[in-house]
Amino acid sequence: MSFDNSKRSDFGPHFTWGVSSSALQSEGAHNTDGKGPTIWDEFSDKQQVKNKDTHYQSGLFYEHYKKDIDLIKSLYIPNFRFSISWSRILPEGTGAINERGIQFYHNIIDYCLVQGIEPWVTLYHWDLPLMLEKKGGWTNREILNWFQEYVQVCCQYFGHKVKYWMVLNEPLVFTGAGYFAGVHAPSKKGLKNFLPAAHHAVLAQALGFKIIKKEFPSAQVGTTFSCSHLTAQSNKEIHILATKRIDTLLNRMFVEPSLGLGYPIADLPVLAKINKYMLPGDEELMKVDFDFIGLQVYTREVIKYNFFTPFLKAKIVPASKRKVHHTKMDWEVFPDSIYEVVKKFSQYQNVKKIIITENGASFHDELVGGAIADHQRVNYLKKHIEKLAHAQKDFPKLQGYFVWSLTDNFEWAEGYEQRFGLIYIDYETLQRTVKDSGYWYSNFLNQLKQE
Ligand code: BGC
Repeated sequence: MSFDNSKRSDFGPHFTWGVSSSALQSEGAHNTDGKGPTIWDEFSDKQQVKNKDTHYQSGLFYEHYKKDIDLIKSLYIPNFRFSISWSRILPEGTGAINERGIQFYHNIIDYCLVQGIEPWVTLYHWDLPLMLEKKGGWTNREILNWFQEYVQVCCQYFGHKVKYWMVLNEPLVFTGAGYFAGVHAPSKKGLKNFLPAAHHAVLAQALGFKIIKKEFPSAQVGTTFSCSHLTAQSNKEIHILATKRIDTLLNRMFVEPSLGLGYPIADLPVLAKINKYMLPGDEELMKVDFDFIGLQVYTREVIKYNFFTPFLKAKIVPASKRKVHHTKMDWEVFPDSIYEVVKKFSQYQNVKKIIITENGASFHDELVGGAIADHQRVNYLKKHIEKLAHAQKDFPKLQGYFVWSLTDNFEWAEGYEQRFGLIYIDYETLQRTVKDSGYWYSNFLNQLKQE
């Protein structure tokens, strides 16, 4: 059976279609109306972002949210995933509530609902309040209390109108890049930071879930994981074993404890050191019965053995070195990855439902005559959605797909050079221009109506 030129109707009427964004990457207004600083303010101030960019302006969603939600509506996108900025509503991370921050999220949620767009809210998309990092951030077990307080506040104010929640965005990335490699805020390094941060993130995703479900049993609560299909560089056993270790870290370490399988220590023995941070009862506390899991898929990785990489003894072979078609992030365009990842996660018995909460691409965009002819992004989305159709046929747990991202935005340590949006932003004028990919997605979604 061919899935070429898949149509929206192939997925059935209940498949969820949407677009994603995050607070820090798009809101700007970093110190407006009582907002407290985040770890990314410090990271930006220290000029650790490419081209010395900062997230301080971005597309200024804080002021332009109505315009952006109007665009979502005009493109027929029925679901909008965005995140709440912790320090906008609790400027110091705990304690005093900033009512103006609360009001901002009421405004977004209400405006979505009025426009018939379903809000999907991520509670934590990497923007830890700076005050909490000063006390150790994710490495300090106290984070569990701070996080629970924050989730309670979100529930109290928004729980009666938000049906879909994601507790964390990609725990591997914020702990790995932020607390092991030091390439993201808060620039901490090494296992002694990574392992406690990772363990606390695993506990936090469970605790956050439990709080929301207790208050709002009918809410649909999940969390999101970054994941990639992996291929060994060759059939040599040394590369195959290296691939297994990377798979354990990238794809398994954060989901398996929540499914009651514990940390996958047997396949990555260095993870045994995480036991140092486990307290009696944690094994139980980590378990969650998520309503869905969000998978964020962009590419596949090719892995080879590498003696010099500590602990993992393995490394990723960059796409450009392999001379394969790749995005501006140097991520291979490999649509089969989305099929393979859904297949892999479907096999976990306790995974009930899978939503692709991010998929998209950064390419060089040029505004010519008021339009962006981003053929490569159109092709990327088209090919991924074809594989998605195949995956849905074979794995019915797959029930949704969100494009990353709504507009161009602040791509973390890469700054503004990388553009993932369906909508182009001119950062001088803040003018929005729907790219051809945005129109393509819109036409794809609107097919259902025409049939
Ligand atoms: C993150 C986004 C990011 C995107 C592209 C995901 O890892 O959730 O915040 O912009 O990938 O790198």
